[in-house]
Amino acid sequence: MTTSRGMRSVAVLAAVLVACGTACTAPPPAPVPASPAPVASPPIPVPGPTSPNEAPVLTPIAVFPLAEAAPVLGADDRVHLTYDLAIANQSSQDVHLRSVVTLDDTRADATLFTLEGDALARQFRPAGNSPGPTLRPGEYGYLFLDARLAPDAPLPAQLRHRFMLALQAAQAPEDVGPRDTDPPPPPAQDLEFTGVPVGVSAQPAVRLAPPLRGAKWVVGNGCCDTITPHRGATLSIDGTVRAPERFAIDFVQLDAADQLYSGPPTDTASFAFFGVDVLSAADGTVVGVKDGLPEETPGKLPAGITIETAGGNHVVVDIGDGRFAFYAHLQPGSLRVRVGDRVRAGDLIGLLGNSGNTDAPHLHFHIMDGPSPLQSNGLPFVFTAFTGQGVVGEASILADTTSPVARVAPVDRSRLAGLHRDQLPLDLQVVDFG
Ligand SMILES: [Zn+2]
Repeated sequence: MTTSRGMRSVAVLAAVLVACGTACTAPPPAPVPASPAPVASPPIPVPGPTSPNEAPVLTPIAVFPLAEAAPVLGADDRVHLTYDLAIANQSSQDVHLRSVVTLDDTRADATLFTLEGDALARQFRPAGNSPGPTLRPGEYGYLFLDARLAPDAPLPAQLRHRFMLALQAAQAPEDVGPRDTDPPPPPAQDLEFTGVPVGVSAQPAVRLAPPLRGAKWVVGNGCCDTITPHRGATLSIDGTVRAPERFAIDFVQLDAADQLYSGPPTDTASFAFFGVDVLSAADGTVVGVKDGLPEETPGKLPAGITIETAGGNHVVVDIGDGRFAFYAHLQPGSLRVRVGDRVRAGDLIGLLGNSGNTDAPHLHFHIMDGPSPLQSNGLPFVFTAFTGQGVVGEASILADTTSPVARVAPVDRSRLAGLHRDQLPLDLQVVDFG
């Protein structure tokens, strides 16, 4: 997991749910949607490397895309194809992922993107105690992919994948790690196969007005190539896994000194942007509101958060075409809309707060394919216009909301300059919405 503790703490709607996988006493959910129960199986016949397979190949892993790949033009001038694969090892051998190549299934399997080595390890989150991108028998994990294309490159209609695996006789957990008395392990056998089609959404990213006014807004836990608490929020709810926050943003604002707060960090008033207007990003109809939850004390995540209270005081707006906008962690009593209200882009929704699963004031914002903030899949969006102001170099500084004196965020102003139109600002970018 490459996410710093910091941005995890700045506010993640789903952080408490994700954290339960490692920190809660309750048994963690089983997030693989359809993998068969692991059974003792004979070793997988290894046909030897082929490229790509011309005949069906019996594979030790089962791979499940969580949703279609959803293209969006990022503020780095690249089209991001963002999607996630659940991978289960249903063999009796250890499986090591050597490389995963994303192919354009509609253009003779042209290579779009290759993940291997350390880059693959960074994008893979195994369950249990698997070391790196290795799955022991019965284990599963998630691969978070972000294939990047030039803006003028043809967009594939469907992806496929070439997997290169190394198979080895399974080691019992107590035998993991070399000991002097251990016999040398047998050499790994390689297996290559091509498969796992994943559709690419033909629906363009929705164009939105900014939900905030002013300068120096930092995109916290943003898209696309880091497993932030948003990107990694593969939540199993009622037994179905979705990825609601793939494109979600936790907006926080830097002050004139590039600090997040000034004054006691446990006081919401120390955050100058606490209480600013949150605006509707699109026309639509309000279909969900929650109010009455208290402000939390910055510096720690509150206890007892549930699915219903994770978003704090919030608003859900049906913006049409199967899309819904979600504005979370608002101040209690600040909501200016009720269910059934029609809103226009720019209308006041409520005030930025610190309610729900949050440890510092911020606006959590995302677009989703249903009215339920967590029982939905996240959809991409772009803002019609914003000015780039740099990129924060160290996420942990933003996340440190316990120091008596806020640290200065290092902003590289040589990056992300100028006016950006119809783009999604990406993780740690700093933007001026005017
Ligand atoms: Zn969030």
